[in-house]
Amino acid sequence: MISRRNSLKLSLGIAGAALAPAALTSRAFARTAAPAATGKFTLPPLGYAYEALEPHIDAMTMNLHHTKHHQAYITSLNGFTDRWAELDPKNTVEIMSKPSMIPEAIRSPVRNNLGGHFNHSFLWDLMTPGGAREPDGGLKAAIDSTFTSATEMMTRVNTAAAGRFGSGWAWLVVNKDKRLDIVTTPNQDTPLETGAMPIIGVDVWEHAYYLKYQNRRPDYLKSWWNTVNWTKAAGHFDKAMG
Ligand code: MN
Repeated sequence: MISRRNSLKLSLGIAGAALAPAALTSRAFARTAAPAATGKFTLPPLGYAYEALEPHIDAMTMNLHHTKHHQAYITSLNGFTDRWAELDPKNTVEIMSKPSMIPEAIRSPVRNNLGGHFNHSFLWDLMTPGGAREPDGGLKAAIDSTFTSATEMMTRVNTAAAGRFGSGWAWLVVNKDKRLDIVTTPNQDTPLETGAMPIIGVDVWEHAYYLKYQNRRPDYLKSWWNTVNWTKAAGHFDKAMG
């Protein structure tokens, strides 16, 4: 007879022999990651290291923002895909341009989470290290003619962003009249529903800056501009004007 205690030891021994500690770890990780990988929506890779934007944005903030906050929007979206067939990554821009098309029973959570997915995907790409360090070409000409200078434009975006009550975003957009404009959106709303195309967007939810800047949103905003990849911004501008 094998006592219960010995039986437990035996089974643990077999498991231990079959799996090296590293394998156990990677197995546990794969198990945690599996649900996200099976849904229609998946977390897009950042494309660069979490520490790549330091000292302006710290690695811990980037890691949490990407793997926890953005992942939460993805996970939530995958909980709604079987309730509305149109809810698909390829329809993201179309849906966020007209949120009234979302079935009323799921409109609020789908709007919030799909907006969160769109906004954060846009942000990660915009902050890609490298690229032009200041506006150039058609975007520079439009900024200068609309705001007098890039410095003035940034000041106005920062003022709008600092004044956004609670959580939201501040944007430089090309509006429906094909003119540059500065707008803010609450929560995870996007500029798309007004017919505008985002050129630059900054997240002013506290989760975007609180670890490093605490309550000092203006300090975060001032530093954040150092992360903007102006080649990406110019690409958005050319597409919006095209
Ligand atoms: Mn965010």
